[in-house]
Amino acid sequence: MEEHINQAAQWLASARKVIALTGAGVSTESGIPDFRSPGGLWTRYNPAEYGTLGAFLRDPEKVWTMLAEFEALLDARPNAGHIALAGLEEAGVLAGIITQNIDGLHQSAGNKQVVEYHGSNRTYSCLSCRSRLPREQVVPLGIPPRCPQTANGHRCGNILKPDVVFFDENIPPQALIGADQLVRGADLILVLGTSCEVYPAAGIPDQVRRQGGKVVEVNLEQAADLMPDLSLQGKFSEILPALSARLETLRS
Ligand code: NAD
Repeated sequence: MEEHINQAAQWLASARKVIALTGAGVSTESGIPDFRSPGGLWTRYNPAEYGTLGAFLRDPEKVWTMLAEFEALLDARPNAGHIALAGLEEAGVLAGIITQNIDGLHQSAGNKQVVEYHGSNRTYSCLSCRSRLPREQVVPLGIPPRCPQTANGHRCGNILKPDVVFFDENIPPQALIGADQLVRGADLILVLGTSCEVYPAAGIPDQVRRQGGKVVEVNLEQAADLMPDLSLQGKFSEILPALSARLETLRS
């Protein structure tokens, strides 16, 4: 492992533009389980029944039984890996992160350039009156939260949806644009805590590879189809701080 960390740190030190793609695995050590590991949400809730906009429109109360479990985890705190990643941006090593996560932990850790590819739980929308509310206003409304907006003395009352991207929804245009800007010119991508099975996000490492860049993976279990230049197998909360410390010694 030591050797792999050295190699990755050397590549980071000589890269012109480094970006990261993150997934659910970076947040497991903050207490938010990923969706596919044993006991994860998708092993208990069929994504076709609970993870699509169609399902939400058909029966929002049913989908909220699953969303409620996720909501309960959202007071989580960033772990040592998130903090190390924020340090890399602060030090000018990391240009930005494209995250598939919806938990906001990269921003809590201090990262500024974060593209939320699958939306986030920080805001909620009413699909009836189109109001958008911040999470702080939605939490007190209970589960499932109902739209509090009133017009002509009538309360809307429609069940709110978190602004996360369900499986049958498009990636928000601003996320596609933000991701493209990060990928352009990147010559190294850190692929962190993602099995790279959900497209189009899973195609991003290939975009970097096609422009001549390197792919460095950090995962507990190697992503099946990623074919990285280097795979660091282990815990995000241990590997990122070790990598960052090694890089600091190289740069000093
Ligand atoms: P995934 O569950 O398919 O894969 C997780 C990957 O992380 C696996 O390769 C696993 O080996 C690795 N991993 C788990 N714990 C780790 C650790 N401590 N250190 C290093 N690696 C670890 O996750 P995915 O690829 O992100 O796809 C899941 C989808 O569900 C994404 O679209 C994501 O938006 C969403 N999701 C988000 C959250 C969140 O916001 N925290 C949580 C669950 C799922």
